[in-house]
Amino acid sequence: MTSAASSTSGWEQHAACAGTPIELWYGPDERPESGHEAYWRRRHAKNICARCPVRTECLADELLQSRADQHGIRGGMTPREREQLLATWRRGGLIPAEKPPSSETVRTLLIQEVPSSSAS
Ligand code: SF4
Repeated sequence: MTSAASSTSGWEQHAACAGTPIELWYGPDERPESGHEAYWRRRHAKNICARCPVRTECLADELLQSRADQHGIRGGMTPREREQLLATWRRGGLIPAEKPPSSETVRTLLIQEVPSSSAS
């Protein structure tokens, strides 16, 4: 895997992260990362996501993963930010509290929420 989007079929073919170092999305594997480094790495990754033509598709796929399977920057958000988004939707009654949301619901909500071309 050489980028955040690991598959080469479907929307992943259009991923703006294609060809970028995997460490940019998940952090370094071989050493601890300082808070300063993590901040700038995440900011760089989010800037790439902000220009990505398949951001909504990417973020929807990640939000549909179980919490334990969510890692790294995807769709312009950290795992914590994605969890906070789901929690906000649950509190607002937009998705069920006790079971995973449907793919269709998540995609509909994201189309309303994800700005098409701004950095987060
Ligand atoms: S939104 Fe970000 S992580 Fe997702 S495919 Fe695009 S560049 Fe990669």
